[in-house]
Amino acid sequence: MDADVIVVGGGINGLWTGFHLTHEGKKTILFEQFPYPHTRGSSHGQSRITRSSYASEEYVAILPEANKHWKELEKETGKKLYLDIGCINMYNMKQTEEEFNSIIQNLKKHQINHEIIPGEQLSERFHGISNDSQYRGIFETNAGLLRADKCLSALQESFKSHGGELRDGEKVLSVVPINQDKVEVKTSIKTYTCKSVVLTCGPFINDLLASVHLRLPVQPIKVTAYYWKEKPGFTYSIANNFPVARDVSARVYFLPSCEYPGLVKICKHSGVAVDDPNTRDVITRKIEEEEKKALEELKSDIGIRFPGIDNSNPAIKETCMYTDSPDKNSILDFHPEHSNIVIGTGFSGTGFKTSPTVGGILAAMATGKQCPYPLEPFSLNRFNQ
Ligand SMILES: Cc1cc2nc3c(=O)[nH]c(=O)nc-3n(C[C@H](O)[C@H](O)[C@H](O)COP(=O)(O)OP(=O)(O)OC[C@H]3O[C@@H](n4cnc5c(N)ncnc54)[C@H](O)[C@@H]3O)c2cc1C
Repeated sequence: MDADVIVVGGGINGLWTGFHLTHEGKKTILFEQFPYPHTRGSSHGQSRITRSSYASEEYVAILPEANKHWKELEKETGKKLYLDIGCINMYNMKQTEEEFNSIIQNLKKHQINHEIIPGEQLSERFHGISNDSQYRGIFETNAGLLRADKCLSALQESFKSHGGELRDGEKVLSVVPINQDKVEVKTSIKTYTCKSVVLTCGPFINDLLASVHLRLPVQPIKVTAYYWKEKPGFTYSIANNFPVARDVSARVYFLPSCEYPGLVKICKHSGVAVDDPNTRDVITRKIEEEEKKALEELKSDIGIRFPGIDNSNPAIKETCMYTDSPDKNSILDFHPEHSNIVIGTGFSGTGFKTSPTVGGILAAMATGKQCPYPLEPFSLNRFNQ
């Protein structure tokens, strides 16, 4: 056997899976189709939000462990990865009161530090966010910004230093289950054997699953990240203690200036469905129109919520991908017919923050260990009901 476990896909979820496997002494090979660093999947870029404000309790339950692992990785690699600058989540109580109430209930139950801020006091607390009496805010103190590219490189370093074999620029073409204890993995270079495989292929998952006669109901989504200039008199920077922010009702999220000085990242938590992630940059008239409409909406949302941002035009735009599942929840499960093929996908635009715990879950599944979390909410079965 070439490995105990082969991981296919070197985004954040595959890398955390590799991290846990190697830390448990498993012989592990990780394949990434593109040479590192690349911008073709979902995990690139400088920043991601981490927070615990979820209405679904299964996410709130796995986040404390994720946060602990981010800090451990910082210690192990000596890199600053997690900036706990806080997160202000804002809800229009006419539209999203139910979600607000579920979140408060979950935060209380899991003893996660938070403070409720009336909409009339938002601008006093955060200079540069507008007051709105229809809104209420939840400020989480143990939340903030993950330095995404640095997280990826720290994990690559840790994986290799614990004996993992990292093979980027090598695409897996097919997976062939031989029996319960053996899988063949055919790549663009040669064929490898292992006891089990973990497929963390992001939006490309169905290309590879075709080799094991499975197609998942996931949709690749092309997403645009926009960066905007501050107006004179406003400083939305980390140095100025500005937290990450979300206008949940408008589906808008905000990260203070970090990667580009003086530019803040403000985006819609949505994008445009594309048939094939390999050709995501081909612009059809439909895509062009949808993107234009979404940008106009975003400009208007920025004008309302962030008065210190010049919303006339974004200064920088970058492309990324979501892999949406039908209910926007992750898929963590075995292939229905092969218990040594484990699948982790469908992270639907929220899978960076949870990846340390998710990687541990996928590693446990691949090595026959008991998983400490209920997996029904993430199962494939839920789509058959
Ligand atoms: C603009 C944007 C903002 C986001 N903001 C947040 C946020 O604030 N907070 C948060 O928690 N999440 C956020 N997300 C979501 C999060 O980034 C993703 O859920 C997460 O990165 C998914 O990681 P992944 O490893 O599952 O997939 P990917 O990063 O897509 O990795 C899959 C990898 O598999 C490789 N691969 C595929 N097929 C093969 C093959 N056959 N052989 C070898 N390699 C293969 C691909 O090349 C790719 O590198 C955001 C996403 C985007 C796009």
